[in-house]
Amino acid sequence: MGQELPDLKQLLAELIATPSVSSVDPQHDQGNREVIELLAGWLEELGFDCQVTSLPGQAHKANLIAALEPAAVDSARADNASDTGRGGLALCGHTDTVPCNPELWQSDPFTLSERDGRLYGLGTTDMKGFLALAVEAVKGLAAEQLTAPLVLLASADEESGMAGARALEQSWPTYIRPRQALIGEPTANSPVHMHKGMMMEALHIAGRSGHSSNPELGRNALEPMSRVLQELLDWREELRARYRDERFAVPYPTLNLGHIHGGDNPNRICGSAELHIDLRPLPGMAPEQLRAELRDRLQGALGDAATDLTIRSLSVGQPPLETPRSAPIIELAERLTGHPAKAVAFATEAPYLAELGMDVLVLGPGDIECAHQPDESLAVERLQPSIELLRGFIRHFCMEEAPNHAAG
Ligand SMILES: [Zn+2]
Repeated sequence: MGQELPDLKQLLAELIATPSVSSVDPQHDQGNREVIELLAGWLEELGFDCQVTSLPGQAHKANLIAALEPAAVDSARADNASDTGRGGLALCGHTDTVPCNPELWQSDPFTLSERDGRLYGLGTTDMKGFLALAVEAVKGLAAEQLTAPLVLLASADEESGMAGARALEQSWPTYIRPRQALIGEPTANSPVHMHKGMMMEALHIAGRSGHSSNPELGRNALEPMSRVLQELLDWREELRARYRDERFAVPYPTLNLGHIHGGDNPNRICGSAELHIDLRPLPGMAPEQLRAELRDRLQGALGDAATDLTIRSLSVGQPPLETPRSAPIIELAERLTGHPAKAVAFATEAPYLAELGMDVLVLGPGDIECAHQPDESLAVERLQPSIELLRGFIRHFCMEEAPNHAAG
């Protein structure tokens, strides 16, 4: 096979030049198919077996699972002996970016541009930069060198609801399921093993409008809404007393009252009111359980008016993550970087990989401060150390004889 791929900066330039904005607003949503094809082309050239799977009902969006497997796994696969294919490492990144405002940038967001020791472009830090580095790190590797499978996972729609990560459960081949996963979200190459989850809920109260001069003419939605607000504040205090984790900068679950709208005129009985809240659970708190508790409490507080309440989720929500500090990939990350694993304030695709049985580390070259910002960039001096770091993980989990990380 010819391993004549472009050099690292050229790989990144091509990824940046291929727009893949994802957004819940259909006007801005582009799909990631072309980035996936680009990566699959390169990885096939490097000897990886590439599986591209479209998201259900969305041909322009896809995940890529590219695997380089040791010979033993190939025969195991032929024998359909699924256990033999376990162990190994997945390097994971999302291929989509957030939308951008080109007029606020100093250079074209879709043209990689180098100045002052930094590479500028949409996705350099979050996180096409990592994907280019991952391809660079596996250049020249041959299946014969591996003792366990090496997987590159490139996903769709991380920035707009994580539909790509959620689709993996259906499409991940059972014969190759690495035990360890590294997600290259921007952490300035410091290891991260936990984050909070995220839920956004809309609480709607239906009333009936009428002339304000006579309360009998309608049913005011704002009055039960005031009970909803008070109940939420009480619940928030209870959650705060019940759950605490000092490893987070904000060591308790948060509940934010973010948006409220109701009524239209002072002299009309308010016919409907809606409140949007954001809830960020700590690891150990299950989103489904919280939703049920929210419903029970509000129905209890509203009494007879409970039938006027509807609750809907504004997003699927993201579960919290906690990979134990003792997990092999966390221990190795602490050793290779010299930094203790920490918690971060942003959510990632990690909980979905954890559900597939992987220990997940979040560690990537970018700086979170410049993600989702005009003039997003990646420091050139980060490139080489990042490649070395990724190769360290690959050597440990896919190439060394001694530790057998096969699932028990
Ligand atoms: Zn990201």
